[in-house]
Amino acid sequence: MEPFETRHVGPDAAARSTMLQRLGFSDLDALTAAALPAEIAMEGPLDLPAARSEAEVQADLMRMAQTNQPGRAMIGLGYYGTLTPAVIRRNILENPAWYTAYTPYQPEISQGRLEMLLTFQTMIADLTGLPAAGASLLDEGTAVAEAVGVARRRQRSGSVVVVDAGILPQSLAVLRTRALALGVEIVASADPVQAVTEHDAFAVVVQTPATDGTIRSVEELSALATRAHDQGALVIAAADLLALTVMPAPATWGADIVVGSTQRFGVPLFYGGPHAAYIAVGPGMERQLPGRLVGLSQDRHGTPALRLALQTREQHIRREKATSNICTAQVLLAIVAAAYAIYHGPGGLRGIAHDIATATRRLAAALHAAGYTLASETFFDTVTVSTPDGAAQIVERARENGVHLRFVDPDHVGISVGEDTSETDLATVATAFGATLTHDEYGAWGQPERPQDYLSHPVFHRYHSETEMMRYLRALAARDFALDQGMIPLGSCTMKLNPAAALETISYPGFANLHPFVPIHDAQGYAALITGLEAQLAAITGYDAVSLQPNAGSQGEFAGLMAVRSYHHAQGHPERVVCLIPASAHGTNAASAAMAGMEVAVVKTADDGAIDFDDLSAQVSRYADRLAVIMITYPSTHGVYESRVRELCALVHDAGGQVYVDGANLNALMGLAQPGRFGADVSHLNLHKTFAIPHGGGGPGVGPVAVREHLAPYLPNHPLVADAGPVTSYGPVSAAPYGSAGILSISYAFIALMGPELRHASQGAVLAANYVASRLRERYPILYAGENGLVAHECLVDLRPLTKRTGVSVDDVAKRLIDYGFHAPTMSFPVAGTLMVEPTESESLAELDRFCEAMLSIADEAERVAAGEWPTDDNPLHNAPHTLAEVTGDAWDHPYPRSLAAHPAGLALGAVSTGARDRYWPAVGRIDGVFGDRNLVCSCPPLEDYR
Ligand SMILES: *Cc1c(COP(=O)(O)O)cnc(C)c1O
Repeated sequence: MEPFETRHVGPDAAARSTMLQRLGFSDLDALTAAALPAEIAMEGPLDLPAARSEAEVQADLMRMAQTNQPGRAMIGLGYYGTLTPAVIRRNILENPAWYTAYTPYQPEISQGRLEMLLTFQTMIADLTGLPAAGASLLDEGTAVAEAVGVARRRQRSGSVVVVDAGILPQSLAVLRTRALALGVEIVASADPVQAVTEHDAFAVVVQTPATDGTIRSVEELSALATRAHDQGALVIAAADLLALTVMPAPATWGADIVVGSTQRFGVPLFYGGPHAAYIAVGPGMERQLPGRLVGLSQDRHGTPALRLALQTREQHIRREKATSNICTAQVLLAIVAAAYAIYHGPGGLRGIAHDIATATRRLAAALHAAGYTLASETFFDTVTVSTPDGAAQIVERARENGVHLRFVDPDHVGISVGEDTSETDLATVATAFGATLTHDEYGAWGQPERPQDYLSHPVFHRYHSETEMMRYLRALAARDFALDQGMIPLGSCTMKLNPAAALETISYPGFANLHPFVPIHDAQGYAALITGLEAQLAAITGYDAVSLQPNAGSQGEFAGLMAVRSYHHAQGHPERVVCLIPASAHGTNAASAAMAGMEVAVVKTADDGAIDFDDLSAQVSRYADRLAVIMITYPSTHGVYESRVRELCALVHDAGGQVYVDGANLNALMGLAQPGRFGADVSHLNLHKTFAIPHGGGGPGVGPVAVREHLAPYLPNHPLVADAGPVTSYGPVSAAPYGSAGILSISYAFIALMGPELRHASQGAVLAANYVASRLRERYPILYAGENGLVAHECLVDLRPLTKRTGVSVDDVAKRLIDYGFHAPTMSFPVAGTLMVEPTESESLAELDRFCEAMLSIADEAERVAAGEWPTDDNPLHNAPHTLAEVTGDAWDHPYPRSLAAHPAGLALGAVSTGARDRYWPAVGRIDGVFGDRNLVCSCPPLEDYR
C-alpha cells in the first residue's frame, strides 16, 4: 500500500507541481526555503522513527492498550463506570458529521450541534434547578475554579474561599493552582458553617455527595447556605449529576452555582478525559458564565434559530478582562451526555440511579453484617469502609479478581458502584472483604426522593426507541456542515484530515475503559503512550520536556505562564509580572496571562504586520526589571514567518524575560523550524489542530506545554499520581493527571504514520496557502506577506476595499460561501474586515480550486451590486445563505433568479473540478444575533416554539 503520507496530503505529485509552477518554484524545498527565514531553518530531518503503515501503527497501539488492566473500575473520585449506548457510539462518537465539525461560530451551518448543546443546557438547568447553564467546561476541577472566579467577580469583597473537606482532592488542587496567582486564600474545613463564620469569605464550595460518599441532609445544606448568604458569600455546589436525578435540586437548598462532571452520562473513563464538565448559575449571573452559552434567536425569515450567545468571542474583544480563557471546550462529550439523557429519558435515568443505589446498599449490608463500619450511613453510590490495617490487602484481593477499589489509606477502602457494575463484581467486592452478598440492604440517601420534575421537554421523551434515536441523530447531523461535507478553511484552526486509522485506536478497550487512578502498574500501556508522545513532541519542537496535562490550548497557555511565574519566583524575582503581547495575538493569550496573575502590556504592529521593533524595545526598557515574558505566535496570526524572531528572543532574554511562543500554528513549522531551538523557552501546542485530533464541534482538545530544561521543574503535576509531573511544580492545571488522555493515541498514531515526513505536511500547508493567496490576489489584496512575498500556512484576505466599493461586508461573503458549499474562513481576526484562510495540507487541488472559484465568483457578484444591477439590501450576498424552503417556496420576489440563489455559478452542481456533488443546505437563513442577546433564552423552549 502507498505510504500514509500520500493519503493525508491532498495534492498528489502532479497537482503539487501544477501549484508550484504557478508560484514559480521547482520543488517544495525551494518554496519553503524562500518563505522561511534562513536563520531559523532546521538542519537535517526530524529525529523521528521512519513512517509506518496504518496496520503497523494500529498493532503497536493495540499492544499498548492490552497492557493496561482496566478491570471493573469502582474507585470513584469523580470517575464512574457507565455504558455508552451503541447507537450513540456509532452515530456520534464514530461519525465524522459530528466529530469533524468546528465550534459553531457560523450558526447557520451548525443548527444540529447547537440543538444538542441547548438540550445539554436544559438538562443541566433542570437537574440543578438553576436557570442558566453553559454548553460545557473542561473538567470538574477547572469548573470548580471557574465557579470561584464567577463568585469572586460578583461578590467583590472578601478574599477567602471556604472549601468543604469532602471535595475531590484533584478539584482542591486545581483550585489551589488558580488561587496562587490570584491572591485568593483557600480554607479547607470539615466544618464549613464554622469556617464561613470565621473568615471573610466570598464563596463556599461543597461537594455533594462528598468524596467519601457521605450525603449531607437538606437541612444541613440549607443551614450552610443561609449562613454563607448572611456572611455575603455565594454557595458553590459540586454535584454528581446522576445523584441529582433522585436527590433534591441544589437550587432548592440554596446553591447559587452548581458544577460537576457529566462523564457518567455515557462517556467512557478514558483514563481521566476527555469529559464534559457543567456549570449552572443563579438568576442574573448568565452574563458571567465562563465558556460558551447557546441561546435562541431568529433568522431573517423570523424562524427560531440557535446561535452562541453573549460572551461567545469575548476573549477577542475583552482580552485580559475576559471572564475566562476557555476557547476549545468539550462539545463532543457534552453532546454524548445530552444524547444519553435523551435516549434514557427521565424515567430511564432515575432507574439507573436507583439500580446503583440499591447495589450500593446491598454491598453496605454485606459489609455491615461482616462487622465493618462505614464512614456514613447516608450515601448514594459510594461507601468508605473502615478496615484497620487491612486496606492494602482488600484492595489487592479485589484487584486480582478484576475489580479496582479505592485505597484511601491503610485503614480505609472506598467503593463506588457504576452503571456497569455487575452482580459478579458486587460478589467479588464482598468476597474481598470476607463478606457475603445477599439481597439485604443497609443505609439510605439521607435526603428525600427528589420531588421536582425534570427533563419534561419533549426531546427527552420522543427518542427512546433505537430507530427514533438513530433518525434523530441523523437529522441533526444533516443540519451541520463539517469536514465530511467540504473544506473548512478557518485560519488559525487547522481543519485538516482526522485519519480514521488514528481515530479507531481510542476505542481499544484498554484505552477507553481505564480509570485514571488505577495503580500505575495497571496503566503501563498509557505510560508507554504518554512517554512516547512526549518524546515525539519534544523531537518535533526542539524542547526538552513536555506535559500532556492541559486539555485545551488555553490551558497550555496558563500552564506555561505559571511555569514562567514559578521560575521568576525561584530566581528571587517575584516582581517580574509584565507579559508583553502583540496587538494581533489570539484573545486567549491575554486572558491566560491575567489568570496567571500577570499584567498585560500590548506591543504594536508595524505597517507590514510584523511586530513593531521600536515599540518592543521601548516596552522592554520601560518595564525593565518587571518584565516576565513576551508571548508571541509563530508564524504570527497574520500568517507570516517574521524574519526577526531570533533578535526578538535575544532582546527579551537580555532584559531578563522569558519567551513564550504560542504553538497553535505549528502546522507551519513541523520539520522546518523548532521553537525550542530558535530562542523560545516555552510553548503550548494544539493537538486538536496540528496533530489530527478532530475538533468535535468545539472540543475536546489537548494543549500540551513544552519547555526548555530550566522550566521543566515547573511543569504541572498531580496530587494523586506522582509520575504525572515534578514535585517542584505549582500543582495541576487539570483534574486528570494526563488531561484528555483518551485521545492521545490519535496524535501518537498520526506522528507514527507520518514520521519525519511531517515536514511534508507543513510544506503542503505552506504550498496550499500560497497557492490560494496567489489565485485570490487577482481580486482581493492579501494583507501581509513575509520574505519574497510569501505567506506561511494561512493568509489574510482583505475585504475592506471590496466592502468600501460595493457595500458587501465580511459577513455577506462568509454567508454566501455557504451557498457555494463552504464553511467560511475565520472572520475579522486578527484584523477587522478580513478573512483568514488556512487550507491545510489535506485539501486536494480540486477542492482548493473550487474554493478559489467560489471566492472569485463572489467578487463578481459584489461588483454587480456595486454596478447597481441589484439593490444593496436585496441581492444574493445580502440574503445569503439561502435555505431550501426559501428557494422552493411559492413566493420569490428577489431581483435575481432562484437558480442563482440555489446553485451559484453552477458550482454546487459539479460544473467545476470536483465533479458532481449534492449541495449542502443550511437549516436556517441568516441569524439575527442581537435579537437573541436582547431576548436571552438558553434552555429548550417548548418544541413547537422553535421548530
Ligand atoms: C486555537 C488557538 C488558541 C486556543 O486554543 P484552544 O485549544 O481553543 O484553547 C490559542 N492561540 C492560537 C493562535 C490559536 O489559534
